Amino acid sequence: KAAAGEEAAHPRWVRINAIRSTLEEQLETTFRGYARAGTIQDVVAKEGKHILIDPHVPNLVAITPGCDLSKTEAYNSGKIILQDKASCFPAYLLDPRSEDGDVIDACAAPGNKTTHLAGIIRSHEPEFESQPQTIFAFEKDSRRAKTLEKMVKIAGSNKMTRIALGQDFLQVDPESERFRNVGALLLDPSCSGSGIVGRDSMPELHLPDPPQQNPRRESKSESTNKRKRKYEEIRNSSQTVIRDDDGNEIVVESEKDLAARLNALAGFQLTILLHAFRFPSARKVTYSTCSIHSQENEHVVMAALNSDVAKERGWRVLRRKDQVTGMKDWPVRGSTEACNGDEEVAQGCIRCYKDDGHGIMGFFVAGFVRDHANASEDG
Ligand code: SAM
Repeated sequence: KAAAGEEAAHPRWVRINAIRSTLEEQLETTFRGYARAGTIQDVVAKEGKHILIDPHVPNLVAITPGCDLSKTEAYNSGKIILQDKASCFPAYLLDPRSEDGDVIDACAAPGNKTTHLAGIIRSHEPEFESQPQTIFAFEKDSRRAKTLEKMVKIAGSNKMTRIALGQDFLQVDPESERFRNVGALLLDPSCSGSGIVGRDSMPELHLPDPPQQNPRRESKSESTNKRKRKYEEIRNSSQTVIRDDDGNEIVVESEKDLAARLNALAGFQLTILLHAFRFPSARKVTYSTCSIHSQENEHVVMAALNSDVAKERGWRVLRRKDQVTGMKDWPVRGSTEACNGDEEVAQGCIRCYKDDGHGIMGFFVAGFVRDHANASEDG
């Protein structure tokens, strides 16, 4: 089936779930018969089924758009997960290791990044059947949290994940005994969604999910198509759909409204980031959006770095040179201008634009680190 419009310029991205399978196994089974492509352009444009092993993110492949994997055994048993390359950046950049202790995914549904975190933890410690680390996954919207619960189970990450259904991350006490060992946090809060490509493998889409029994099985269903049509309508009319802090859907209709809403979203995003900085043992944080607006991206990063809590506790941006190899090598970086001329912070920021030839969605991610946990108490 041919993909149309903006989707046609983008491959289908498939993450191999390290808990259930390996890249080698999937190349031998699900992707047997796919010809190897040399570039994203080949994957997208050549006749027949093509596959490219991604050079940046481990366990990720790009395949010809329109290839339907929904009926494969691998898809239905959680061995493969349809996830845009950019959406794989945050967990990969966070790189949770056993020495980091427990991990928080603060805004988790539908669970792409939660299950990716679990896969990375397993890749680092393959011999552990039951992992010593816990992932605490928070999701404020109870309905979306149910989807998260299903996705985590299908992906086989349920043993190491504690899901807080309907829990607002901002209401969680960082000083609580439960979170004493939390060393790493992944923050992927609600945003304007301005980087999203019009296609169905986009769970970050800020529209209500259709009522469904099994979200993964229904990805091709009529209700999903309705959702896509509604999304296209909104895109074509230059409107934006966002959620307010209570999770209510808001359609933004004018540039002026958009500016006001971006401002409100940025305030919420900064609050989430500063809350994460308060976890006493935390030493690593990633912050991401699927927005292309610097108000939600570099500006939030700069405000966070200039905050009292960041200064007191010693938080700084994760420099490019200290990032995992694939992220260090990724060529598209933050805007120096939007970082008030701070080149080091801009280089630490990772960006994607949906029309830049990499075949991925518009996205932003930055990492924060500090050298000593409990720096405020030490100091
Ligand atoms: N990380 C998810 C993934 O990769 O599958 C996508 C997350 S989506 C961009 C943002 C999510 O954050 C929404 O499901 C929203 O309901 C949730 N959310 C917003 N505010 C929250 C809060 N204060 N606490 C917990 N979850 C929140």
